[in-house]
Amino acid sequence: MLYALLQSVLIVSAVAGALAALLVVAEMYLRNYGPCTITINDEKKITVNGGDNLLSVLNSKKIFIPSACGGRGTCGLCKLKVLEGGGLLMPTEKPYLDKKEREENVRLSCQVKVRNDLKIRIPEELFAVKEYTATCAEIKDLTHDIKLFRFELKDPPEIKFTPGRYVQLLAPVYEKSSEDVYRAYSVASDPANKNIIDLIIRLVPGGICTTYCFNYLKVKDSVKFNGPYGEFHLTDTDAEMVWIAGGSGMAPFVSILHHMRNTKNPRKVTYYFGANTVADLFLNDEMKQFEKDLPNFKYVPVISKPGENENWQGETGLVTQAVERSGRDISSCEGYLCGSPGMIDASIVVLKKLGMSESKIYYDKFA
Ligand SMILES: Cc1cc2nc3c(=O)[nH]c(=O)nc-3n(C[C@H](O)[C@H](O)[C@H](O)COP(=O)(O)OP(=O)(O)OC[C@H]3O[C@@H](n4cnc5c(N)ncnc54)[C@H](O)[C@@H]3O)c2cc1C
Repeated sequence: MLYALLQSVLIVSAVAGALAALLVVAEMYLRNYGPCTITINDEKKITVNGGDNLLSVLNSKKIFIPSACGGRGTCGLCKLKVLEGGGLLMPTEKPYLDKKEREENVRLSCQVKVRNDLKIRIPEELFAVKEYTATCAEIKDLTHDIKLFRFELKDPPEIKFTPGRYVQLLAPVYEKSSEDVYRAYSVASDPANKNIIDLIIRLVPGGICTTYCFNYLKVKDSVKFNGPYGEFHLTDTDAEMVWIAGGSGMAPFVSILHHMRNTKNPRKVTYYFGANTVADLFLNDEMKQFEKDLPNFKYVPVISKPGENENWQGETGLVTQAVERSGRDISSCEGYLCGSPGMIDASIVVLKKLGMSESKIYYDKFA
């Protein structure tokens, strides 16, 4: 009898011990997925510790996937193909992926957790993306809420980019932000000047990166960014162009204009730039100079609410209204748009109304 009791106690404690060990293993498993191998484009293999999201894991291995929202799953930029091991599509990804992308196993890398070995495919050009250290050389007020930031590259000391591309600037941990965040900014400088990157940034009230740039970043400070990224660039045709921008959407066009001047590009351009008041216009002298240097370039600033004391003789209303007022048949033209999603969507409607086919409209939404 005593023997049977002892035996049962031993069995119960053995089961409890085994269960406890299992729980420890399960906990370890949940917290740390151990080493996982990621095979990229069937060639390159990297081994990482599981547990983090794919975007961060690739970043830590200096493979930079574009992302403008810092991994919050709200910009939809960090797409790549996960061919094996990515698990089920998350509800947070669905709004950013169309039917074809889902069929082709496209995922938002910030939403895919690395739990096991993965096979992924990324565009080859992303291997050319580098991380740069630079010094802030100049901060210039352009309007009440837009500044130009000039950075001198230190390591590596030069960057090669096609005009229209953007970089991801790092806002480090500071008083208002407890983590490093990256935000996308279009390069505004002359691509021939490889040691310099100019960014034109509009302050977003409460925004992490713009508050850092406007209120904390000082001349001579060191910054980090990676890039270049993006698809926005002039096509190789000689078609006439209509450009539309507002606010900091000016940035890529400045870089493109420098390049057009360097290469004596004769393409015809009408550049509509929308601002609220005359005081919100900037780089006016630079635009006049581009008009002189590029005989087929025309700059059309459009003011929506000219101030009472602003003696404005030019176009008024929304920038899209000015384009529409031109009333021209632009079916043979290409459209290039940059700025807020609202302005871009409204511009597409107007360009199509004037005869432009959607396939000839190129844009970068600052979303
Ligand atoms: C391809 C591309 C190019 C771009 N180029 C430029 C450029 O040249 N110049 C430029 O000025 N901008 C550009 N942008 C926009 C830029 O990347 C940033 O989105 C912008 O500067 C705001 O960044 P932030 O960190 O200051 O704001 P964020 O911290 O991202 O906040 C933006 C807004 O969202 C709110 N917000 C923050 N967190 C949350 C949350 N969790 N939930 C809800 N709301 C929240 C904030 O209060 C704020 O109103 C570009 C964007 C893209 C995609």
